Amino acid sequence: MLNDPAFTAFRDEVRTFLAAHLPDDIQRGAARATSVFVDPAITLPWQRILHAKGWAAPDWPAEFGGPGWNEIERYIFAAECARAGAPNLAPMGLKMVAPVIMHYGSPEQRAHYLPRILSGEDYWCQGFSEPGAGSDLAALQLRAVPDGADYVLNGSKIWTTHAHFANRMFALVRTSNEGKPQAGISFLLLDMDAPGITVEPIRTLAGDHEFNQVFFDDVRVPQANRLGRENEGWSVAKHLLTFERGGKYAPGLIGRLERLRKQTEIDAVLRAQVDREAINLQALQALELKAMRGVGGSSALYASALKILGTETAQRIDALACEIAGHPAWADADGQAPDELAVVVPRYLNDRAASIYAGSNEIQRDLIARLLLG
Ligand SMILES: Cc1cc2nc3c(=O)[nH]c(=O)nc-3n(C[C@H](O)[C@H](O)[C@H](O)COP(=O)(O)OP(=O)(O)OC[C@H]3O[C@@H](n4cnc5c(N)ncnc54)[C@H](O)[C@@H]3O)c2cc1C
Repeated sequence: MLNDPAFTAFRDEVRTFLAAHLPDDIQRGAARATSVFVDPAITLPWQRILHAKGWAAPDWPAEFGGPGWNEIERYIFAAECARAGAPNLAPMGLKMVAPVIMHYGSPEQRAHYLPRILSGEDYWCQGFSEPGAGSDLAALQLRAVPDGADYVLNGSKIWTTHAHFANRMFALVRTSNEGKPQAGISFLLLDMDAPGITVEPIRTLAGDHEFNQVFFDDVRVPQANRLGRENEGWSVAKHLLTFERGGKYAPGLIGRLERLRKQTEIDAVLRAQVDREAINLQALQALELKAMRGVGGSSALYASALKILGTETAQRIDALACEIAGHPAWADADGQAPDELAVVVPRYLNDRAASIYAGSNEIQRDLIARLLLG
């Protein structure tokens, strides 16, 4: 399907643009990134270049500033970006909160937030998890008490990726203790510079500062910043999580594996392992294309299945990259490994988290069992 001649001109257009406009320093920064969450010092300049071309948000409908591509074109664009070594743009704004603002937002909220997400003027973080609420997210306790036209927030969020860069957060807060835990949750859009917010770093296993704990001490947030109705934030969150989990894992991994393949001339066994992963990736890609066309399963089922397959394949490729980088041939060549091989160990360590975030893979397996077996 991707090789259909109907898409050749589109692929060539994207490829030509990337060859001319992806700067070397951004490509190099992406190759040295140790996480899928690439530093905004690298991603934001790239987002501005894409925005100037009208390509910053391939998934957005044209009415909100997307390029109006169909699903195959979007997939080809993702594959070409990965092939060229472009960095992933931060998903929290463009891919997570934007679709729910489009769906649940008032006209004023859409007009205010969406252009700033598109241009990169606003950088978002996700305030869902709390010290006592991860897999069991509905147990969240960050309290939002109405006071005049505001809510007053007290509590904390944890594992908040890039909160130290963000000027906005979308957060789930508790507005009621009546009924089921899911029934008393609201969805707020808030400013990170509001008085009373403190961001404390947490180091990852790889030593990076990628996520944080965020404390709220009498933080005032206008009720007008609520997305959807009070106590109905759980529906907004469920809608958002399908965007967080679904997605396109194969294009990025195929790009990465192809770059690794170039380093496997040194060893036939490594080359065979790369070939095996390449076959797995073809299968993953076929499933992603099926999901995109809505064939053979609900979007929730695909979102969970692709999350498991994508993250577990990524972790196997991380391990393989470590083996390639550790091959004695590199030591013989005075350690002249390419950029991407220089960061394989921090990347391997960082990516252990991929089967935990966005809902752990055990939870995804539970969801699949429930959807398929009832
Ligand atoms: C790198 C990283 C970035 C993150 N970024 C963000 C972010 O930006 N914003 C945000 O809100 N959150 C973020 N998170 C948090 C993430 O969503 C949670 O870590 C995740 O939901 C798991 O919750 P927990 O850590 O509390 O683990 P727990 O829920 O305590 O789970 C511990 C273990 O028990 C298993 N388990 C729990 N319940 C069940 C069950 N019912 N059946 C089977 N197994 C179960 C889990 O699979 C896991 O292995 C991030 C996490 C990581 C690692």
